[in-house]
Amino acid sequence: MLILDTTLRDGEQTPGVSLTLEKRMAIARKLDEIGVDIIELGSACASVGEKQAMKAIVKEGLRADTSSFARAMKKDIDDALGTDVNTLSLVVPTSDLHIEKKLKKTKQEVVALTGELVTYAKAHGLKVEVLAEDGSRTEFNSLVEIFSAGIAAKADRVCVCDTVGVWNPEITFGIYKLLVEKLKVPVAFHGHNDLGLGVANSLAAFRGGASELHVTVNGLGERAGNCPLEELALDLKYFYDVRTVELKKLSELSKVVETLTGLTLHANKPLVGDNAFAHESGIHVDGVLKHASTYEPITPEMVGQKRRFSFGKHSGRAGVKAKVEQMGVRFSDTQLERAIAKVKELGDKGKEVTDADLHAIVYDILGEQHEAKVKLEEFTAFTGNRVTPTASVKLKINGEVKVVAGIGDGPVDAAISAIEKALGGTNVKLTEYKVDAITGGANALVHVKVKMKKGDREVSASAAETDIVMASVEAVLRGINLLI
Ligand SMILES: [Zn+2]
Repeated sequence: MLILDTTLRDGEQTPGVSLTLEKRMAIARKLDEIGVDIIELGSACASVGEKQAMKAIVKEGLRADTSSFARAMKKDIDDALGTDVNTLSLVVPTSDLHIEKKLKKTKQEVVALTGELVTYAKAHGLKVEVLAEDGSRTEFNSLVEIFSAGIAAKADRVCVCDTVGVWNPEITFGIYKLLVEKLKVPVAFHGHNDLGLGVANSLAAFRGGASELHVTVNGLGERAGNCPLEELALDLKYFYDVRTVELKKLSELSKVVETLTGLTLHANKPLVGDNAFAHESGIHVDGVLKHASTYEPITPEMVGQKRRFSFGKHSGRAGVKAKVEQMGVRFSDTQLERAIAKVKELGDKGKEVTDADLHAIVYDILGEQHEAKVKLEEFTAFTGNRVTPTASVKLKINGEVKVVAGIGDGPVDAAISAIEKALGGTNVKLTEYKVDAITGGANALVHVKVKMKKGDREVSASAAETDIVMASVEAVLRGINLLI
């Protein structure tokens, strides 16, 4: 099975995508590395820049065949020859709609032109694939007639393009069965994804006898895009044990193309999306931890991906415990329950609890002081642009309750001065204060780290809360408890 990748031609026709020479070069190298058989480098006729980029890539001496797209005109073939590619993707409109409305020719003229152009390209040493544009809306006999003209002129391969993605797997299979039997050269399939059937149709074409399939990385392409390489390659292996490209490198290739085109993948994109191997619900995480295949059809490693446990309101004990242990921490049952409760609390606020959030939660619980001399019972703060920031605290100091208010430059400062007052002057000084908002958004978990000093003793403490003032007060109290 040959794979022709057209990320650099059809894929670049994705609205909003335009690739510079360096980016084209990087993608071509990656495609070559993963083992694509034919790389369509672009349309030499499109622009001087594209032609130069194509020529530069050919000079790299890739292992794969390199191809240029050409419309059914001699000038386009000359442009392709100028890039030194060894293959020509000669695109001939075949449907009545395209022949009459776009080309303004008759079918007989198109048949004759196909023969002439293939002869011309072959005479210049190119491998030639004749692509039937809008082939899926072309009457079967016309398709055979136009292809046969190309084959008579020594075309190496022919290809039906489902240009607007209107076939389904049954139709594709049926037509390929007939076509492959009738034609004496390899037949390729170029599938689009307008109705979401790009991969299914390509698999059906393969079952019908197609020996080359056209793809793009991440399914880039006009409108809803083309058949995606990553899904097709995995499916060919999974269902039919057909080897094409190196599956382990799919994830990396996908990331490179995502970054270089700036077209972000949706998280639930099969195989290569961020969530393709992510588990959140307690039941699933528990299952996967016991036996991965309970909720995974293939291992993430097969396509170079990583399994990820995400945390939120659906999280269960097993997942949180596994994550905590991965951090080298062994929690008591009470501590684990506290961690789960905090994860769910964040999840209820509509947040996905990230790894960093979970780290902060774990360290926060590790820093909790159950035998603390000073405990915060109540806390209130007022602030605004026309009031002096004021805080009042109710503290339990060695069992004795004290309520004190303080003022300061801001609510945190006011709280610290109130605590100081309640303790009757501890000479504890705040020497460093750092805030990390762990993830974006106003409801992010805030991790406050402080350094505090008394005499020449300095300690650090931290706390994580969704409220910045609460996290600050908690961190300061923990520091004070370590020092007094
Ligand atoms: Zn296309």
